[in-house]
Amino acid sequence: MQAEAQTDFLIIGAGFAGCVIAERLAAAGWKCVVVDRRAHVGGNAYDETDAAGVLVHRYGPHYFRTNSQRIVAYLSRFTDWHAVAYTIKSFARGRYWSFPINLNTFEEYLGRPSGEAEFAGWLDAQRVPIDHPRNSEEVVISQVGRELYELFFEGYTLKQWQRHPRDLDAAVCGRIPLRMNRDERYLTEEFQALPERGYTALFGRMLEASAGVEVHLGVDFAEARKRWRCRHLVFSGAVDEYFDYRFGPLPYRSLRFEAESFSAGQLAQRAAVAGKPGFWQPAMQVNYPELAVPFTRIVEIKHATGQQVDATTIVREFPKEWQRGEEPYYPIPAPDAHAAFQRYATLASTESQVSFVGRLATYRYYNMDQVIGMALAEAERLLRRYGSQAT
Ligand code: FAD
Ligand code: UDP
Repeated sequence: MQAEAQTDFLIIGAGFAGCVIAERLAAAGWKCVVVDRRAHVGGNAYDETDAAGVLVHRYGPHYFRTNSQRIVAYLSRFTDWHAVAYTIKSFARGRYWSFPINLNTFEEYLGRPSGEAEFAGWLDAQRVPIDHPRNSEEVVISQVGRELYELFFEGYTLKQWQRHPRDLDAAVCGRIPLRMNRDERYLTEEFQALPERGYTALFGRMLEASAGVEVHLGVDFAEARKRWRCRHLVFSGAVDEYFDYRFGPLPYRSLRFEAESFSAGQLAQRAAVAGKPGFWQPAMQVNYPELAVPFTRIVEIKHATGQQVDATTIVREFPKEWQRGEEPYYPIPAPDAHAAFQRYATLASTESQVSFVGRLATYRYYNMDQVIGMALAEAERLLRRYGSQAT
């Protein structure tokens, strides 16, 4: 064990939460040590070039989107952007469907052309009237009725969360839009783009922006707290782990990713399915809502990155039970899980020299922009408290 060293801020986790805070504090002249137990920076947003030469998102697809001009302006200091209209499909009853549900989906369902007025009338007849949907089942059946709920949502959600939609917050399925027009974009946010050279390059530039950031990979919290004394700790790991699981582990959902690559020659046979050469499937992401299929989705990220390469890689996502020691990918967005987290939140609020920031430390099903917003706000709070060292 090396001798104890001194730093101003010790930051656990090199995902968006940790890196944004490190960058902001270092820009103000503070010394920051960032550690991560993984062998790379970027957290779950990490991307890399695989053996087939394809840029892949190692921990599941990360579609950057936001309504915040402030966050776009902040990240744009470290990256240019590749604009993407993220589009996906759903595969059920042996065929591909337009998804999220829109007028094209309705025409596919009818098997003939239609229009907005007919679609609106049909939905009115299908909808279950619920004024204030309290869970994910109610939110979907109140928008599209039972048949489309069962076709697209029920099985997918059961596989993804191993919980019934009625036992999950309304916001889980409620974040999937319903459109009366033919807008097929998966997401609703104004700004939708990927970092032009990938997320890992963005993180590299962020961490190199000021001389004050030192990064140590392959180091976990237990080791870091022995190696560095600090003025203030920023923790972006799991809050239950920080407190040694005092109230027992919180519930999480985990994932197994299975990648498969295809050469240009192999892809020639898929051209009819993919609709264009060089691809395996017709969209960046295809969801598989049927319970008979063990995975939830297949992602072919080359559709979104726009990378010019002959080969392609697809990744199947298999949801699985989380066990201690595994990656806790998803906090569970459900009332009982929030209640369990509250006990840890109360403990966390008593730690005056520690900031708990990020998806795992605050146990929130947050997108990247929300985590970046949270980290920027926490950095400002710390700078108000400790002042700036910059001359
Ligand atoms: P993380 O990225 O999880 O980073 C935390 C880091 O802390 C990790 O690198 C971890 O190794 C490290 N760490 C944890 N504990 C310790 C410890 N004890 N010691 C040392 N290091 C530790 N968001 C979007 O906006 N768009 C998307 O399309 C999208 N898709 C997603 C798909 C999947 C499959 C998942 C799981 C998430 C997705 N997200 C998406 C959410 C996004 O990943 C998060 O919002 C973001 O990564 C959160 O950043 P973070 O820094 O809080 O956490
Ligand atoms: N969902 C679904 N069917 C789909 C897509 C999503 O039932 O085809 C539900 C599912 O519960 C999922 C949630 O909507 O967890 C949010 O979907 P999203 O694609 O945003 O999930 P993420 O990318 O966060 O895994």
